[in-house]
Amino acid sequence: MDKGMGIAGIAGRMGRLLAEEVPAAGARLVGGIDRPGTAAAGVRLFADIADLAAAADVVLDFTHAATAITHAKALAAAGTAWVLGTTGIDSAGEAAVRRAAERIPVVWAPNFSAGVTLMLALAERMAAVLPAAQYDAEIVEMHHRQKVDAPSGTAIGLGEAVARGRGVSLAEVRQSGRDGHTGPRPPGAIGFAALRAGQVVGEHTLLFASDTEHLALSHRAFDRRTFATGAVRAALWVEGKPPGLYAMTDVLGLGGGRP
Ligand code: NAD
Repeated sequence: MDKGMGIAGIAGRMGRLLAEEVPAAGARLVGGIDRPGTAAAGVRLFADIADLAAAADVVLDFTHAATAITHAKALAAAGTAWVLGTTGIDSAGEAAVRRAAERIPVVWAPNFSAGVTLMLALAERMAAVLPAAQYDAEIVEMHHRQKVDAPSGTAIGLGEAVARGRGVSLAEVRQSGRDGHTGPRPPGAIGFAALRAGQVVGEHTLLFASDTEHLALSHRAFDRRTFATGAVRAALWVEGKPPGLYAMTDVLGLGGGRP
């Protein structure tokens, strides 16, 4: 890595941790960007994503879903690798990420923790073994009160893993935010429930429930540094990779789980 790593959203909760974890991993931090007027002590602030992309080999991006299209274009134009952690990206943003991945390597993960990455791989295997006709799949997540998107990107990632394991499309079977007279649960649905309270870093449970047994897989993150160390690991891994869209399961050598 000749130039080093840049951070988009460097003044944010994740950005500040990344600014510690990049040098801790022995990599060079070139600086970052944040919203105009935002202060970030002790790091170089670049004017915009294009400036940062030109100065870095890889950009770690933990900002806001609204940035996806601009960042995708700037990073693809500069040929800079992209470690993308921002969640809540809509379908137009996703299309821009996929277009960028034709020109640059992109590691895109709703959750960079090793534990959740393993959970995603297990979720897919469990779903392949536990038939949808007998086992209802429900995903419950809980996060801090500041979180702006629901269900969490990780919860959706788990839903997609279950859908892949069952050979269906999540969009066709997704059921979220039940309220009022909902009618009975449709067979094969993948259900989501989101709780928002206090300063919970991130809790996810995937439940498979049949008439005769329940099996639950749970993960609890109690320090968001786990996402930062995982993202830096992805940034070190992605250096020199051919263009393409990679998942954290690729970084950990688990295979499958492509976003
Ligand atoms: P945060 O609000 O603390 O930080 C986001 C930062 O991005 C802020 O400093 C904000 O000013 C900056 N920002 C917003 N728009 C910008 C723009 N247009 N240009 C430059 N900077 C901009 O939030 P956070 O908790 O650090 O989370 C950031 C994102 O990362 C969210 O989408 C969150 O869901 C996601 N996240 C992902 C993971 C993961 O492992 N993938 C883990 C934690 C958080």
